[in-house]
Parts: sequence; C-alpha cells; structure tokens
Amino acid sequence: MTLEFENRVAIVTGAGGGLGRQYALELARRGASVVVNDLGGSVDGVGGSDAAANRVVEEIQALGGRAAASLHSVATPEGGQGIVDTALEAFGRLDVVVHNAGILRDKTLVKLEWEDLDAVLDVHLRGAFYLSKPAFARMKDNHYGRFVFTSSNAGVFGNFGQSNYGAAKAGLVGLSNVLAIEGAKAGIASNVIMPVARTRMTEELLGTFADQVAPELVTPMVVFLASEACQLTHECFSAVGGRYARVFTGLTPGWYAGHGVTPTAEDILAHLDEIENRDGYTVPLSTGDELATLLPLLNQQ
Ligand code: NAD
Repeated sequence: MTLEFENRVAIVTGAGGGLGRQYALELARRGASVVVNDLGGSVDGVGGSDAAANRVVEEIQALGGRAAASLHSVATPEGGQGIVDTALEAFGRLDVVVHNAGILRDKTLVKLEWEDLDAVLDVHLRGAFYLSKPAFARMKDNHYGRFVFTSSNAGVFGNFGQSNYGAAKAGLVGLSNVLAIEGAKAGIASNVIMPVARTRMTEELLGTFADQVAPELVTPMVVFLASEACQLTHECFSAVGGRYARVFTGLTPGWYAGHGVTPTAEDILAHLDEIENRDGYTVPLSTGDELATLLPLLNQQ
C-alpha cells in the first residue's frame, strides 16, 4: 500500500532545516501541499531570517511539488493563527499538522533564568497550543485531521540540564493525548514522535553516534503518522537510527490496601515490591480507563 497525500495540505513547523525539512520534502514528494513554516533563528531561538523557509519551498517546487512559506513564529497566538491562515489562503484546506519547531536553552535548574524557561515553553509547548487550537477547529469542520507533535527522550525519560526543554516536551505528550480523545469523534488523530537525529541542534552532543542517526531515518514514521492510513491515535513513538519503537505510560496492577483501610506510610514501604511490580501492567488511554480497571477492586468487600 502506497501512502499518498494527493489533495492533502500539511503544515510543518520548523521546516527550514533539520528534521522538519526532511518531513516537508517527503510529504511534498508524496503529493501534499506543504506550508513550510520557519522563523529562521538560531538554535537558542535568537534572531530570524526568511532564508530557511524560502529555500525549502524552492527545493520542493524545483522537484515539482507544491509549497508555501510561513515565516511566523509559533511562539505567539497570532503566529499560530497566521500559519493556519497561510495553509487556507495558499491551498484552501488543512489536513496535517506536524509541530516540529524547537529551540534549546540547556541549563541546570539552579542556573536556569526565567527567560530561558519562557523561551523554551513558548516555542515547544505554548506554540503547540497556538497552532493546534485554530488547526483543530478547521479539522473538526472537515471531519479529518492528523497531528504529529514532537517530544523528546529528554522529556519522557529525563536528561541532565534540560528541565525547561524536558518539561515542555513531556507537556506535548499530555496535549497530544487530550487532543486524541477530543478529536476521536471528528476523525482527528494525534500522535507523538520522539526523534534522535543528527541536526544542527545535536551535532555537538551526539559524538560518534552522529553518523548513525541521519534525520531521513525519522521521516518514515512521521509520514506514516501524518497519513490517512494511520488509524492509531494517542500514541508515542521513538525513531532513532532506523529503530522504531512504541513508548507508553503503563500502570502496574499495584497493591490494594483493602476496603475501608487507610494504610500507613510504613505499609507503603512494606508493599513497594507489589506497587512497583510491572507484571500485568496496563496502558490506560484516558482517566476513565484507569478508573474502570480500579472499580472492581474498590467494590470488593
Ligand atoms: P533544528 O534546529 O534543525 O530545527 C528546528 C527548527 O525550528 C529550526 O529551523 C528553527 O528555525 C525552527 N524554529 C525555532 N523557533 C521557531 C519559532 N518560534 N517559530 C517557527 N520556527 C521556529 O533542530 P532539529 O533537530 O531538526 O529539531 C526538530 C525538532 O525535533 C525540535 O522540536 C527538537 O526539539 C526535536 N528533537 C530533536 C532531536 C534530535 O536529535 N535532533 C531529539 C529530540 C527532539
């Protein structure tokens, strides 16, 4: 089965270079009309230039594809609306949003300036809200949509010196899970990619590993998640160097203190093995899912 994007319109944020450029080129090669959004700033989010987005638009057009540049910043409500408006004005509809724009301001928590917190939250997390709110409304009207949000192992697993970035990236998983639930009846799927790839953001961090993690190797998973063939939603995938894997939040069966019993902290200590034991874990897909598995236990007399 070939995954095609004929008559589909996709927004890719941060598509002027790195991973976003790869996604934009491949979506366009498969027939999508692509809004190439990029502010064109530095890795730490300073400055801006129209060169990055325009260059990728030219690349796509030179290959016979359709693309329009958006130089908006995702980090403001006006920017998010402007990106959606660009898609509608240039191509008349909106089917896919790949929120990929990102910056880094790595510092340990003690050294973190509030400005570094705001800058990172604004691009990754608030930017995702500013873009997905107007995009979701449009997709809902069309009863179709695909969101792909970009998280990171730094957020889901943790990484030294990245509290601002990690919190923003973990927040994107929360946003995607809720959009998946809110969009289910309207044919809107929302999933998360956790990439690792050699780009300007990571070239000094990856060492010898860099040779094995080409950005092209992340693209197939993102293109699949952006496609009509993707019936998955509420999921998160790691894509690194040609290895694709599901990442999920599991719930252990845990330890039940018993009906009407209020345990002590010492009881918790005594039952830690049961609380932590992963045998028979489940993967709840909503708060209701967790409570549904709990109710039979709580109703035991
Ligand atoms: P990159 O720096 O090459 O790409 C990020 C792009 O986002 C840049 O072109 C930049 O100009 C753009 N951008 C920044 N702020 C913007 C704003 N306010 N509005 C619009 N565009 C803006 O880095 P990359 O490695 O390609 O990163 C892409 C995404 O993948 C980021 O979200 C990053 O956090 C995430 N990520 C990357 C890796 C990796 O190993 N490269 C690992 C985990 C997550």
